[in-house]
Amino acid sequence: MKGHVAGALRWRDLIAAIGHGLRRGPASVEDFRAAFARSLGVETDAVRLFGSGRAALHAFTAALDLPPGSEVLLPGYTCVVVPNVFMHLGLKVRYVDIGARDFNPSTDAIGAAIGPATRVVVVPHNFGFVTEGLDALRARFPDLVFIEDAAHAWGGTDAAGRVAGTLGHAAFFSFEYSKPLSTGIGGALVIADAAQRARLAPRLPALRAPSARAVFKQALTLTWHRLTMSLPQPALGALIALLRAPSRMLGLVAKTPDSEVAGDTQPDYHAGLHPFSAAIGLMQARRFAEIHALRRAQTADYDALLAGLPGWERPAPAPGAVLLRYPVLLPDTATRDAAVAALEAVGIVGGTWFDDVVHPRGSRRYGYTEGECPNGERAARTVLNLPLGRHARMSAAQRAAVRAIAERHGGRDGGGAAARGEPTR
Ligand SMILES: *Cc1c(COP(=O)(O)O)cnc(C)c1O
Repeated sequence: MKGHVAGALRWRDLIAAIGHGLRRGPASVEDFRAAFARSLGVETDAVRLFGSGRAALHAFTAALDLPPGSEVLLPGYTCVVVPNVFMHLGLKVRYVDIGARDFNPSTDAIGAAIGPATRVVVVPHNFGFVTEGLDALRARFPDLVFIEDAAHAWGGTDAAGRVAGTLGHAAFFSFEYSKPLSTGIGGALVIADAAQRARLAPRLPALRAPSARAVFKQALTLTWHRLTMSLPQPALGALIALLRAPSRMLGLVAKTPDSEVAGDTQPDYHAGLHPFSAAIGLMQARRFAEIHALRRAQTADYDALLAGLPGWERPAPAPGAVLLRYPVLLPDTATRDAAVAALEAVGIVGGTWFDDVVHPRGSRRYGYTEGECPNGERAARTVLNLPLGRHARMSAAQRAAVRAIAERHGGRDGGGAAARGEPTR
């Protein structure tokens, strides 16, 4: 199946990571840190590795020591672990809607939403579309702290060529299974500015090494995800059926627990990155140029393949963007679901991220009121993600099938935002 997970991982990376881990031991963490910093063009000191992206966001926000009653602005199209961080820190949040044909709030919308209690703004780069105009916003609101959610945006740049992760006061990255670089579970905090770093570093928490058992589970889950990207659909179905019960029983699948999504439990915000996870990350970080070039080429290919189909709305990626997935807004949910089923039939996994303004559906939706972000809600109802990355390379037959599916499932409609007379960007 062509899909979205472990998008930069090769089998030989896992083997090389074992070798590296054995040879370098705990120093593997420093090796990955340096390689990841190099991939962003920042000093090694600017990067701090964590056991997850949410842990990196939590550590930075806690270090700000915000006064009670402080408010945080969040994108009205985000992942539940982001608002949960602020819920766990006892901070208020408010959501800023995304554009009608974009997946991020514009900096104009953020600027208009900033109120007297606002202290922090989370600026997303959803799917790898880098938010433009952050410099001007920072200049206008010099007392606020801007944190980039760069979980999807490894390697992307804004229109001026500046690297995502270096545009705000701080940024966090995620190395979870479905992110552009995957260590299993993991994350990084980036504070590009040296003065800022010097001020905050003493207030960042000491991290605990995750247990060998937790890392084993993550490595097994990552291996499983890598395997699902290689197998044809019938073999995959059989294998999943065979392994489902025993792997559940042994608790071998590492994922965010339902209780955390519901907001009832907290993750371990003080988890660090294990040396073996770091070694897996290192193998991918070293190949950053090749990985980013592949995603850019695949994005251009989808652009060409879907040209002239106004019913499949999508923002035009800026030249510097490196997309994580290729997102398209379809006319309605039923059409979207039919397209997902049709893609599945030709061996392509069509994602539905984010399926809620606070993804995934069924999350606590901390601080969100239904109807507050209509564009975010519409995106959640109608978005379809086409896969990018190493395991998304399509055959000629699959390319033709994608075009045919788009034509058959709403692509020709032209009933989207433009046709309704709404602004498109
Ligand atoms: C994955 C993700 C995160 C959280 O990263 P973790 O490493 O899973 O904690 C945050 N924001 C967005 C947009 C994400 O997709």
